[in-house]
Amino acid sequence: MRIVVQKFGGSSLTSLELRREAMQRVWETADQGLTPVVVVSAMGRIGDPYATDTLLELIQETNPNAKGENVDLLLSCGEIISAAVFAEGLRSMGLPATALTGWQCGITTDAVHLGARVLEVQSERLWEILRMGRIPVVAGFQGVTKEGVVTTLGRGGSDTTAAVLGVVLKAERVEIYTDVDGIKTADPRIVPDAPTLQVMSYREVVEMGHMGAKVLHPRAAEIAMEEGIPVQVRSVQRSSGGTSIGHGVKSKSAVGGEPVSDRVVTGIAHLGKRAQVKISGVGDFHASGLGARVFRVLAEAGVSVDLIYLSTDTAAFVIDQAKVGIAREALAPLELELEIKLGFAKVSVVGAGMHGVPGVMARVVNCLNDEGIPIYQTSDSHANISCLILEEHTARAVQALYREFHLDSI
Ligand code: ADP
Ligand code: MG
Repeated sequence: MRIVVQKFGGSSLTSLELRREAMQRVWETADQGLTPVVVVSAMGRIGDPYATDTLLELIQETNPNAKGENVDLLLSCGEIISAAVFAEGLRSMGLPATALTGWQCGITTDAVHLGARVLEVQSERLWEILRMGRIPVVAGFQGVTKEGVVTTLGRGGSDTTAAVLGVVLKAERVEIYTDVDGIKTADPRIVPDAPTLQVMSYREVVEMGHMGAKVLHPRAAEIAMEEGIPVQVRSVQRSSGGTSIGHGVKSKSAVGGEPVSDRVVTGIAHLGKRAQVKISGVGDFHASGLGARVFRVLAEAGVSVDLIYLSTDTAAFVIDQAKVGIAREALAPLELELEIKLGFAKVSVVGAGMHGVPGVMARVVNCLNDEGIPIYQTSDSHANISCLILEEHTARAVQALYREFHLDSI
């Protein structure tokens, strides 16, 4: 069996017309003698009746602080509805299909609600369906704990479902269908004519994803990378083109035919709704053990920190704005002098090949200075340089860095 996992995102399933397009992609795969395994997200975006955020609003109307297993159970319904509708659509085209929930599909996760990790997949049922010549249509974004509690995998979770099934079924490839025709050098909502990267290494995709390019979840790219499963990202309206992701493949379409993982700058990513936390006037922050405690309590509360700046008597770092309440609560017992400011964004220049290349930071800082955009913090790794800026400067910063690194001509 030559299996191809085909995942359809929420924005590609909003209308009947788009759903028909998506089903056409499955039909083509079957027509080529390949075996499709479909993964679907909930249909549409907030406001659409069965979209994840609509369901979230619904439950928050009854309890604004709703969390835990009831929320997961409700959210999982969006993908289940989508799977059933999609499977019937395939049947109407003469393709026998069976819709499956995450737990029917044997996807076991840990118990972290709204952000569970897949532990294993018991794939017997999936194989049974495939052997009967039927197409499984799996509800993405969900699983079940060993105790039988329904969980969801967090934003972008359907991408993870697709990658996990690709690995478990030893698929020839995983195809991610979305509302843009591939991964671009910047978010097309900010740079509408940013070109599509035809070939990318897993590392580049993981890095872009972690820095905020939500087109493919970084966890999904990591899972595919471990087993070397090729991934394609393309528009639901096209059966070819888009972005091909693999191990540092060589490509004529990449810059000068170099291995793509050696590109100095791959693209610009951004992440909004950041909050800056500053802790000051605490004597010797580290000798007292306070520094370590700050990060420990935040970790225990599930708040991840970023852009960390430490000196002997101060600390500054960045968290998700949505986690400010939890962070305040967690830090309260430490009685610190705490200053939390909202309204920041992080822009990142991403390139798996920038390691050891001098001058990239200088260009980033100069470029933002020339635009009159103040930088509040920076950080860099072997594969990215990030700057904390005011959220209102995001679009201008992305556009300026895009021009600075000539990302229009790849
Ligand atoms: P889906 O519903 O298919 O999962 P997402 O909304 O999760 O779709 O991801 C697609 C969106 O990702 C695009 O509409 C685009 O605005 C955004 N995006 C951000 N950065 C990039 C990028 N570098 N290339 C392509 N799309 C990007
Ligand atoms: Mg997505």
